[in-house]
Amino acid sequence: MFKKILVANRGEIALRVIRACQELGVKTVAVYSEADASAPHVREADEAVLVGPPPSSQSYLVGERLIEVAKRVGAEAIHPGYGFLSERAWFARAVRDAGLVFIGPPAEAIEAMGSKTAARQLAIAAGVPVVPGNTEGVRDADEAIAIAETYGFPVLLKAAAGGGGKGMRIVRARDDLSAALDSARREAKNAFGDDAVYLEKYIEGPRHVEIQVLADMHGNVVHLGERECSVQRRHQKMIEEAPSVAVTPELRARMGATAVAAARAAGYVNAGTCEFLLDRDGQYYFLEMNTRIQVEHPVTELVMGLDLVQWQIRVAAGEALPFAQKDFTPRGWAIECRITSEDPANGFLPSTGRIEYLHLPSGPGVRWDGGIEAGSDVGLHYDPMLAKLIVHAPTRALAIARMRRALLELTIDGVETSRAFHLRVMDDAEFQAGDISIQWLEQRIERLTAPTSEATVLQLAAVAAALVAHEERTAGRASSAPSTPGLSEASGSTGSGLTWAAVARREGLRGS
Ligand code: ADP
Repeated sequence: MFKKILVANRGEIALRVIRACQELGVKTVAVYSEADASAPHVREADEAVLVGPPPSSQSYLVGERLIEVAKRVGAEAIHPGYGFLSERAWFARAVRDAGLVFIGPPAEAIEAMGSKTAARQLAIAAGVPVVPGNTEGVRDADEAIAIAETYGFPVLLKAAAGGGGKGMRIVRARDDLSAALDSARREAKNAFGDDAVYLEKYIEGPRHVEIQVLADMHGNVVHLGERECSVQRRHQKMIEEAPSVAVTPELRARMGATAVAAARAAGYVNAGTCEFLLDRDGQYYFLEMNTRIQVEHPVTELVMGLDLVQWQIRVAAGEALPFAQKDFTPRGWAIECRITSEDPANGFLPSTGRIEYLHLPSGPGVRWDGGIEAGSDVGLHYDPMLAKLIVHAPTRALAIARMRRALLELTIDGVETSRAFHLRVMDDAEFQAGDISIQWLEQRIERLTAPTSEATVLQLAAVAAALVAHEERTAGRASSAPSTPGLSEASGSTGSGLTWAAVARREGLRGS
């Protein structure tokens, strides 16, 4: 096992990796930007090194500097987390060339899966079903129209180098294709420095179901079942769960075998994820392979009972996987909500400020993977995801009830967050029935984000109650004088047997 690992990331995933290392008895080195000098990951690591100013292009993304730091402090390996340098083949190669271990797949596997078109070609060669479409960037609008007409509209334009939903355009009619191609190309060029765009059939109403795989250096590859990530906004996941209501043990075995075949074809080692679309007829299509640990990995950990980040490290250190495929059957149900600093009532506008107060949920089956604490400043330099709230329970219905309870316990004051939105989803009858697809959220976004008039009234009432309570507390401290009878009633009971605090909690208003 390694003695010391450099963690080339920040926020919740840096802490997640540090925790895994602590349990393995491995020392950790954090890196941080000037904006993160007092961040929790810096404090929790055994050592920490400042690597640059706040913009990630001058700090967390400067691979050469991180490698130099790793060598200087005597770290033997680098864990890249997700995002940042995690899927840059050149970085994996540079780490290896520097005589260090990259905790992730070989650079060649990242490359093979790095471009969507290359990954499609590899998948087709391995007999993996892909979404109908072409496998190379289109030359021009005429070619795109010709291809689109062979598959039929609607089609989806996708950036070959894509990620994070960038460079994607749905095109429903022939006449719209040329303009959509231009704008997809422009967006792709800006985001990835590569304007190659190809075309896929647009599948209506599918689910996003992905398979976790784990491979060692000795030829063992297992899959760890599926995660359902259909609750998406702008092609970005918001809520994930494991298992999926749409996946039977038989389908799990088939999709799992497909993911293992794709991983083998890429010469894959370490943890990776094959993403699929699952249509209403039970057909599934490979989308891409993410060659890193994913944000939503904890739901798999909870239902499969293993620590994926520790296994990433152990596999990178050369350990052989001691499992057989038959060891993995999902136990119970896990759900994850991404807690972001975005305001659902305002079109998910990013919110910035200082976390003034933070109360974390706890109790049975609740896990908080966060990167914030009271006093943390939330700016615009980094991803708005502050933390992940994850629950595990025996059934899906109980997991939803548990998530609801945990969200009600959570208080984050100082920035707007996605908390109230998640509460709405947990209360939604269609979500509770598991009747979701990747379009589900977008089609209901108004209902799931707009405050109801009743909620507004109750919110005002809750604010008034909080003010009164505060006044009473300060008055009590100053003079021990009894409070105004009328007002103390406001801070206590609603007259219907509920306290105002309980009403505020029930409406998901506390601290949101
Ligand atoms: P990115 O790498 O940019 O995230 P993906 O290929 O993973 O792009 O797709 C992101 C999301 O877009 C998927 O989870 C799914 O919701 C949607 N999507 C992708 N391809 C298709 C398709 N062919 N038909 C319908 N929806 C799609």
